[in-house]
Order: sequence, then C-alpha cells, then structure tokens
Amino acid sequence: MPQVEQKIDMKNIQQAMQEDLASKEIFEMAQSFGFDYLEKSTSRHIFPTSQAVDNLKFFDEPFPVAAAPAKEVINLLQQYGSPATVSQIGGRYFGFVDGGAVPAGMAAKLLGTFWDQNTAMYVMSPICSKLETVVESWLKELFQLPPSAVAGFVSGTSPANFCGLAAGRWRLLKRQHWDVNAKGLYNAPPIRIVAGKHAHSTVIKAINLLGMGNENVEWIDVDDQGRIDPSALPALDDKTLLILQAGEVNTGSFDPFAELISKAKAANAWVHVDGAFGLWAAASPQLAHLTAGMNQADSFAADAHKTLNTPYDSGIVLCSDKEAYLSALQISGSYLATSDQARDGMLYTQEASRRSRIIELWATLKFLGRSGLAEMINNLHARALQFAAALKKVGGFEIVNNVVFNQVLVRCDSDEKTAQVLGRIQEFRDCWVGGSVWQGRKVIRISVCSWATTEDDVVKSAMSFKKAMESDY
Ligand SMILES: *Cc1c(COP(=O)(O)O)cnc(C)c1O
Repeated sequence: MPQVEQKIDMKNIQQAMQEDLASKEIFEMAQSFGFDYLEKSTSRHIFPTSQAVDNLKFFDEPFPVAAAPAKEVINLLQQYGSPATVSQIGGRYFGFVDGGAVPAGMAAKLLGTFWDQNTAMYVMSPICSKLETVVESWLKELFQLPPSAVAGFVSGTSPANFCGLAAGRWRLLKRQHWDVNAKGLYNAPPIRIVAGKHAHSTVIKAINLLGMGNENVEWIDVDDQGRIDPSALPALDDKTLLILQAGEVNTGSFDPFAELISKAKAANAWVHVDGAFGLWAAASPQLAHLTAGMNQADSFAADAHKTLNTPYDSGIVLCSDKEAYLSALQISGSYLATSDQARDGMLYTQEASRRSRIIELWATLKFLGRSGLAEMINNLHARALQFAAALKKVGGFEIVNNVVFNQVLVRCDSDEKTAQVLGRIQEFRDCWVGGSVWQGRKVIRISVCSWATTEDDVVKSAMSFKKAMESDY
C-alpha cells in the first residue's frame, strides 16, 4: 500500500475512535445490553437454543477489508452473540464446577475495564500493586499460612498448579545442589512425583509442561470417594513432590490432609494441594473440618472464579516457601524497573503483562467479608444437600457420592437410562447439568457453585429431573 494512503487511513480510524470515546454511545449500548441480559438471566434458557447456535454462522466471514462502525460491531455481538451464551450468572447452571459472579465483583471489573491496567509492575499500576498486597495478606490470614507465604494472581487453577509445582521442583533440586533455572532438567538428579489416581487433568498437564513426565508419577490408590488412601502412600523422602487434592472434581471429596501431610513433613517432602474449588471450604467454620491440616502444605492452587464467584478468569497460587516461589518464577531484563518498596505482580506469576483481575478479586472479598464468604459457601453446600434429598424423593435416582461439599453425583438404574435422562434434562434447558463417569458407570454431575442458586432454583431443577425421568424414550 502506498504510504500516503496508509496515513490517511490511520487518521480516519483514529478520528473514528476518538469520536467513539467522546460520544460514549457504544458504551451506553453495551451497558444497556448488559443490563437487559442481567434482567433475563433468571428467566432465559440456561443453554442456547439450537437456532441460537446455528445463527453463529453470521460470524463466519473473511477478515474484513475495511473498518466497520463500532456500533455495528457491538450490535452484532448483541444480536447473535448474546443468545448463544450459556447463562452462568443465574441460579440453575450446575455444569462442570463453574461459578457465578458476585455483583460487586462484576461492577468492579467493569470499572477496571476503563482503567485498563497492566499489573506486571508497581510503576505500571500502583493501585493494582496495592490491591495484590492487600489480598495476599487477607488470603494468608484466611487460610492460616505462615508470614513467609506469598500469593500469585493468575488466570485459573491450571497456571496455579503449574506455578506451585514449579516452586516445588526448584526447591527439591536446589536441595540436591542443582539450579534448575540454569541447568534445566538434562542430567538433573531425579525427583519423585507422588499423586492420587484422581489428580485433576490440569495437574498432569503441569507435570508435562514442567518436563517431569507423567509416566514418572507414582499413582496412589484412592477410596470410593476418590480420596487418597493413606495406607497406600509409599515411603516419601526429601526428593518427593506429593500432590494432594481439596475437592475431587466429581465427588467433591477431600484428601485426608492431616495424616498425609504429617507423613510428608516427617520425610521433608514438598506438598502441593490442588484446591481449585475445595480450598475455600477452609473459609467456612462449618466446613473447615474438611481441610484440617491442609495449611501445613507448601504450595496451593485455587480458583477464584469457582467457589468464590469472581468473574472469569481468576486463579490464585499460594506458597509458604517464598524463596522457592520467587526463584522458580524469576525474571530479569535491563528495562524492567522493579520496585524495592512495593509489589511487582509479575514476580509472582509466569506472565509479565497481565490484566487487572485483582480488582474484582479484591472487590468480591471486600464485599463478602469473612461472614459473607462463609455464608455463601455454606449455601452451596446446603443447596447440594437439598438437591440430593429432592432427587431421592423423585425416585429412580441413586445418589452415588457422599455430599460433603457442593458436588452431587446421580445415576439411574442403567447407563442407558442415565444417558437418556441427562439428554432430556439438557433439552429442556430449565437447568444445565453435565455427565461424567464414576467407577465405570455413567453419572449425572451436579455442581452447585453459584451464589445465585436459591431453594426455589433447586426445586425447579429437581422438577426437570422428574419430568426427564418420567418421559417416554
Ligand atoms: C477446575 C479445576 C481445575 C482447573 O481449573 P481452571 O481454572 O479451569 O484452570 C483443576 N483442578 C480441579 C480439582 C478443578 O476442579
């Protein structure tokens, strides 16, 4: 393209953007579409209709040659995007372990959108540095971690598992006089990885990414709830990474931390806890017994976007060994102006530039406080118990797990019937639940993970199960 022409284009597009900013029209549109969406979130189909999914074809086009008016862009999202969303913010989405969103967190995220902060370094955003510092200290207090503990704010539990295990790898090799950052894993002294057979797939992915190789994992037998059986634990040593779990992804069960961690500590092994949704049980006096002894572990991974109900995407790493954590994630560069006085967020994560997810995480915790947080978590548990009781009453459903937290596993008398009933519930769209396999048999997996789920939502959803059970197939 000739240079002159390009210059004119640039001026036009810049002008167009300046006008969009000045008139604020597109922001008003987005806000009114958003408010409309909020209002319908309790009455609309939980899962998009097939028509809505089919209409996504309107997004199929070659990369546009010319600029489009911004209003058209926003309208397109409203017209064809919004109907094809899965309604997670209402009270009847029970899929995967996907959390809802606390309104104060949503609003804070909206404000943070206008701020558009890069949270890599203090000099890029003093406010985000401050909020990270504050939330780190709140989390240490909440989970009763030692003063040496640090927190990293990442996009979810996948990177949190990665960072926690990286710290463990660094420490175990350092003890053997091996600097893994400098020398890598080629010819490194071996470290052992010990994990329960029901470790989450993202733990295995982290092991792969860290070059430790999933074939090297020593898998420990689990009981009928997916908990590690302490009697099956192999002898541990100071070259071992032991990976435990708070909240098995199907049953919601917790590994027996006190017994396992005291054995690991006696052997000087590193203990990592994947607590994507279950770590938060520790924040409820009623449910904290599930996590007794857990705070003695070395590193922890958790999601904020599940049980805590922050908007997506938000995950947390906690590590009691500050030196190992900062060393594993160390970064340097001539232009990086790190601060001696204040926190530089990038020293605690695998990314450098990051969006400001700390804003909505802080706002959610600030809004809830200790008592609100406990109440919200207790409600997830109460609604899960209610769901299980309601389905027992319907008949034809067997509750497969002990409902210790927020997960309920249900099956019918045959795999065929379970699949049919699940399919019908999904077609009704009154609620959304997913399927899984537990001990070789198909199950329906109910995860109560939104603050918005009321008693009435559970009643309505159980009705949908009943209608599906009584349907003709
Ligand atoms: C959801 C989940 C993960 C993965 O978390 P993401 O936020 O999706 O990366 C890991 N472990 C467990 C137990 C989970 O439930």
